[in-house]
Order: sequence, then structure tokens, then C-alpha cells
Amino acid sequence: MKLILLGAPGAGKGTQAEKLAVKLDIPKLSTGDILRTEVSRGTELGKKVKSIMEAGYLVSDEIMIKLIQNRLEQDDCKKGFILDGFPRTIPQAEAFEKILDNLPTSMGDTHVLFLDVRQDELINRLSGRFSCKDCGANYHRLYNMPTQQGVCDKCGGKNLIQREDDKEEAVKIRLELYKEKILPVLQYYYDKGKLIRIHGEDTIEAISSEIASIIDNKKDIKFANA
Ligand code: AMP
Repeated sequence: MKLILLGAPGAGKGTQAEKLAVKLDIPKLSTGDILRTEVSRGTELGKKVKSIMEAGYLVSDEIMIKLIQNRLEQDDCKKGFILDGFPRTIPQAEAFEKILDNLPTSMGDTHVLFLDVRQDELINRLSGRFSCKDCGANYHRLYNMPTQQGVCDKCGGKNLIQREDDKEEAVKIRLELYKEKILPVLQYYYDKGKLIRIHGEDTIEAISSEIASIIDNKKDIKFANA
């Protein structure tokens, strides 16, 4: 099972990818999380991308393609994976197909899920979002508070912070870039008959059961261009 989750910042890709990874027992590959780990470890890559990420801009295709290629070559990806945050541009989508051609796997059984959320709802979600600095778990002031205030449910850490790129200026840039770069990627998968649209404004649980039923009944998948 290979899944790509597409959608704007704040569409809920990370939350759903997390649940799917547990359900399907395959790794979630979040390029944002991988980069944030590099930044917090202060690696060469982390130093290179820190300010780009904090301002809400995209990291170069060259860096991202290399990063995902290395990750996909690891053993835990052999039985499948969930991509969250990649591909985000047409060159990334094209490179991804070439990478798959060189792995013992193919694009054929890759499903692309698009979490569709309106812009005003995205702004609402992003501005209330906070996350755990230690493990990256996401929370929201209105919809998804940790059980114990100030403590991460997942790792017990007490560093719950608002991401730099969830601040107002960076959010504006991210949504602009989304429109410019990601809409063509949606079109790319639509044209290939691979895009499955999910209404992304239900509750987290409702969306996750819709995705689960799509995956469990693959014959019933409603492709966006069917
Ligand atoms: P995310 O957590 O997916 O919103 O990603 C956070 C930030 O990481 C983005 O705003 C970009 O700066 C960078 N990033 C993550 N994935 C990609 C990608 N596929 N291409 C370019 N930049 C990326």
C-alpha cells in the first residue's frame, strides 16, 4: 500500500497520516517532520533549511528529492508507506515516479488522497495549531487539546509550542505557495486518474473512517475524474 496525502497546510494530512500509519502498519514519511528533526538536531541540512521553513517558503526540489529518495530506500518502506507533504511541486511528482521505477515497487498501486478544505477554514485551523517540540505531535486549541494541559499525549514532553511557520505572516506565504505550486500537482494526479477527493472539513474521526473505508473497499474508490 502506497499512499500520498495531498492538501493545503492545515488540511489535516499529518493527523490522518499518523492514524493510517498505525492502522496499516506502514511508516508515515512526513517531509516536514524529517526537516524539523534536522533543524532541531542542528545538522548541515537543518542549518540550510531553517530560515526557509520558518518564513513559510518551500525547500528546493533538489534537496527534497534527495531526501525522499534516501528515505524510500530504507527497509521499512518495502511493504509500503504514506507520504505526507511530498510531492509538493511538479518536479517532485515527476521525480517520485522515477524513484519508484528504481525500487521493487511501482506507481501502479499508489493512491493519492486529496484532503479538500476551504481557505478560511485553513486559516482558522493553522492559527489555533500548536505542536510538541520534542516529537512533532500536533494539537489544536479548539479541536484537539492534549489530555493534560501543557503535556504531550504522545511523548509526555512539556514543550508545546506554536510553529514559527504557523504565525500569521508565514501562513499567508504558505497558502499562496500552496495555490501556486500544489494545484498543478493535483491536476497532475487527476489527469492520471489517481486523485481521490476527500471532504476535509468533517471531524478527524469521520475523515479517518472515510479514508479507512476507501482503503478497505478499493473497488469503491471514487476517483475525482471518474
Ligand atoms: P509541513 O509540515 O508539511 O507543512 O512542512 C513544513 C515546511 O517544510 C514547509 O513549509 C517547507 O518549508 C518544508 N517542506 C516540507 N515538505 C516539503 C516539500 N515536499 N517541498 C518543499 N518544502 C517542503
